[in-house]
Amino acid sequence: MSRTARTLLVATGSAHKLVELQRLFGDLPLTLVTLRDLGISDEAPEDGATFEENAVQKARFYAEKSGHWTLADDSGLEVDALNGAPGVYTRRYAGADATYQQNYEKLLGALSGLPRAQRGARFVCCMALVDPSLPSGEPPRIFRGERRGEIVEGPRGAGGFGYDPVFEVDGRTMAERSPEEKDQLSHRGQAAALVAAALRAELLG
Ligand code: IMP
Repeated sequence: MSRTARTLLVATGSAHKLVELQRLFGDLPLTLVTLRDLGISDEAPEDGATFEENAVQKARFYAEKSGHWTLADDSGLEVDALNGAPGVYTRRYAGADATYQQNYEKLLGALSGLPRAQRGARFVCCMALVDPSLPSGEPPRIFRGERRGEIVEGPRGAGGFGYDPVFEVDGRTMAERSPEEKDQLSHRGQAAALVAAALRAELLG
C-alpha cells in the first residue's frame, strides 16, 4: 500500500461497528469514511461459501467503486452440534427477514435437550482489506477473529444484538455484558485489533 493514502472506507452500515473501529484506529493517520459519506448505495454481492469469501467480495466491490482502501467484514456463528451451521447463513437462519429473536429461538429449538457439553459454538469475524491501486490479482489481506462459548438453554440479558442473549462466555451471556467488555471479548474486536496492528505497522512503520 502507498504511504500517502490516508482514507479508509469502512464498508459497513452499522454505526456500532464504525464507532468501535474509530476507537481502535484512533491513533493512526487515517480518515475513516463510510458508504453513506461517499454516497454509495449499491449493495455488494454476498454469496460466498465462507466468511472470508464474503468479506473479500464486499471489500473488492466497494474498493473498486470508491477508489479508497476498503475494509469489509463478515461474521456469524458456528455451532459444533450443527456441524458449523448456521455459518454464513447466521443472519437469515430463520428466514430472509427473520428478527434476532426468531433466529436465536430457532437455534435454541435445534439444540433442545442437548447437555452443556454438547452446546459449544464459536463466533467468527473475517475482515478483508483491499487497496484498489494494487493489481486485481493481488490477494487481499484477511484478518480473522474467533470467540468460543456455549449456547445457553434460554436467553439472558438485554445488551448487544443478534445471538448475544444466548451466547455465554465464562458464565455470562454477551447480552449481560457492557459494550466495552463485549468489544474486548468479541470475535469482531479481535479481528479489528489485528487490522489495527497491520495498519499501524504500515502507516507508522
Ligand atoms: P454481520 O456479518 O456482522 O452482519 O453478522 C451476521 C449475523 O451474525 C448478524 O446478523 C448476527 O445475527 C450475527 N452476529 C454477528 N456478530 C454478532 C455478535 O457480536 N453478537 C451476536 N450476533 C452476532
